[in-house]
Amino acid sequence: MTTSDRPGMVMCRPTHFGVQYVINPWMQGQIGRVRNDVAVEQWNRLYEIVAGLTTVAIIEGVPAHPDMCFVANAGLVAGDRFMPSVFRFPQREPEAPLFSDWFADSGFEVVTLGGDDTFEGEGDALFESDSASWIWAGYGVRSSLESHQSLTETLNIEVVSLRLIDERFYHLDTCFFPLPGGRVVYYPPAFDELTLAEIRCRVPTDKRIEVSESDALRFACNAVRLDVTLITNHVSKELRRRLAAWGFDVRTTPLDEFMLAGGAAKCLCLIGRQDAGTSGEGRLDSPIRHTEIQLSGHLLDSGLMNRLFDSVTDGGGSFRVDQFTVGQRHDLSSTARVRVTAPTQERLELILNTLQPLGAVTVTEDTDARLESVTQVGVAPQTFYSTTIYPTDVRVSGQWIRATSQRMDAVIVIDDSDGENDPSARCSLIRDLQNGDRVACGVDGVRVRRTATIAGKDEFAFMSAGVSSERRVELAVEELAWEMRRIRAREGRIVFVAGPVVIHTGGGPHLASIINLGYLDVLLTGNALPTHDIEMNLFGTSLGVDLARGVGVHGGHQHHIKAINRIRSAGSIRTAVEQGIVTDGVMYACVKNDVKYVLAGSIRDDGPLPDTLMDLYEAQAAYAEAIDGADMIVMLASMLHAIGTGNMTRAGVRLICVDIHPAVVTKLADRGSVESTGIVTDVGLFLNLLATRLVDEDASDG
Ligand code: NAD
Repeated sequence: MTTSDRPGMVMCRPTHFGVQYVINPWMQGQIGRVRNDVAVEQWNRLYEIVAGLTTVAIIEGVPAHPDMCFVANAGLVAGDRFMPSVFRFPQREPEAPLFSDWFADSGFEVVTLGGDDTFEGEGDALFESDSASWIWAGYGVRSSLESHQSLTETLNIEVVSLRLIDERFYHLDTCFFPLPGGRVVYYPPAFDELTLAEIRCRVPTDKRIEVSESDALRFACNAVRLDVTLITNHVSKELRRRLAAWGFDVRTTPLDEFMLAGGAAKCLCLIGRQDAGTSGEGRLDSPIRHTEIQLSGHLLDSGLMNRLFDSVTDGGGSFRVDQFTVGQRHDLSSTARVRVTAPTQERLELILNTLQPLGAVTVTEDTDARLESVTQVGVAPQTFYSTTIYPTDVRVSGQWIRATSQRMDAVIVIDDSDGENDPSARCSLIRDLQNGDRVACGVDGVRVRRTATIAGKDEFAFMSAGVSSERRVELAVEELAWEMRRIRAREGRIVFVAGPVVIHTGGGPHLASIINLGYLDVLLTGNALPTHDIEMNLFGTSLGVDLARGVGVHGGHQHHIKAINRIRSAGSIRTAVEQGIVTDGVMYACVKNDVKYVLAGSIRDDGPLPDTLMDLYEAQAAYAEAIDGADMIVMLASMLHAIGTGNMTRAGVRLICVDIHPAVVTKLADRGSVESTGIVTDVGLFLNLLATRLVDEDASDG
């Protein structure tokens, strides 16, 4: 078949069109509502416009296949070849052989992409307009990412994978329209952020039109181009003006009957004359990458499988469960092997990074970690492996080495063998990197070890962390008091992280009595808690409010500043206590009981108190040192300090987070281990209950 024999456009008569099932949000509530006579009339008008501009071949519709008129989903034409669709929904599957037969009879070579990966033809595969040197391809709703790899292999052409995230724009051609001159018209909210970055990287600003929601929902992007004429169901004045400035004449023709089924102009036309550009001599390698992962544990009841699937799709990848063995009893764990696919190696690594904390292990032949040297002080190589809170091993020269100083958001530096010592691995903050440091990059050769549960089993129990406001606070306090007493009995370390709300809510005296009972080893806070605590002691107010009466005191707003000034004149909180200036409260209890405290400064700070560390690096280092060896960290109503501390805490440390805001508690408790408990409540009330419980239990010990 020569180029001129091929039809410019292929259309399928809507004789049997209607909405008979629901496979996209547009069809919802529309079953039986299509007026077929009106649809036929609208189709005829579209046909007349298209046929006035190019040759059109017509496929006759077949009864019982109401969506056949949406012929763009029949497959994809590239030169003499026709690649039939592999439909996602069984309702449309029977169309595939009908279309294949038609294209074969019309002289096309029918080439199947192979495998059972879904691919919905030109609906999700649009050639770059000028040279057809790449295909913009949609995935995420109908077509699979894997089909993009098959497209590259079959056509030897670059495929740019674009992830669709809004089911209303289920095919790429509903929200993306490439035009000559390297231009595109598209609706950004239909895509994920990484896809938008890819589009914006390939297409400069002056060559992109981002359409409004109103245009998008009337399928303005679902347009047919024939030379400089664009045919669509709708175009706003503004979009028409912008397209005219690019030299295009837009012709609209109503297609609202087809929109009841979620289709418009482009869906009704398949490009029949499409020369697929060759991409040079050699075979192109698809950027799509796969890897096999394995995980085990209580995968179903813990919700871990769902978390895994969500993490893969949220990261722009896809998955296929190759094997799943379900634990036969509640105490037995399940095992899954899952194939993860991502559009690029970089995105695959990002996804794997999010799967590792869930306990997923890559099933690959053991390879050494890729190490890259630091070439700029305080800057990591771009593809560095970013750490989690979990124990992590790195493979160096065939040997797995456990990284030390585990924390999240760090990099892993390998200190090589010097002949006498074996190589070692340590977590390092990016800012501490020195030239020549060798940093683990990518995810190969790095594995995260799962946290042992309280039962001591090496299995992973995500979501077993409790976050509940419904749970009675009394019960949570009872359990916490029991644990604290056990830690104190074995001379373990308990760290409290607290914000000024502790004082404002009247929790100060209760925290002081917990300190006096010997439960606290370290207090981590900022400038505000000690300020208001000392204000309370000196003036009987917290931020100018008399807590006993619950009213503001005249001139009280100056109290905290006066308190800070008093301590500044003494030189430090400790000196102020020793000089008898401060006689009660949380800080007094800390000094008297030799409890270490670290005050980290912030931009909000007044004064500050002389003890407050205003150098952020120094403050972070002092916090990190203070939590080293902690058995338990209790975080009380300070988002800033609690999250800051959480980030530098390795897995295995018991965390209790108390805050009135559920989101803060969830963020801290949701660390993928049983060691976290979140308690959503007022911190003053909580401290009252905890102190009372500890005092009573200590008293009953005699
Ligand atoms: P933050 O916003 O980080 O945390 C406050 C937390 O308390 C929030 O998560 C909130 O949900 C929670 N909360 C509020 N009321 C509560 C209640 N009744 N019970 C339980 N939780 C409750 O703020 P922050 O930690 O208070 O302060 C951030 C930084 O600003 C700190 O370094 C602090 O020292 C500093 N600061 C300084 C001054 C000062 O110097 N005058 C004053 C205020 C804060």
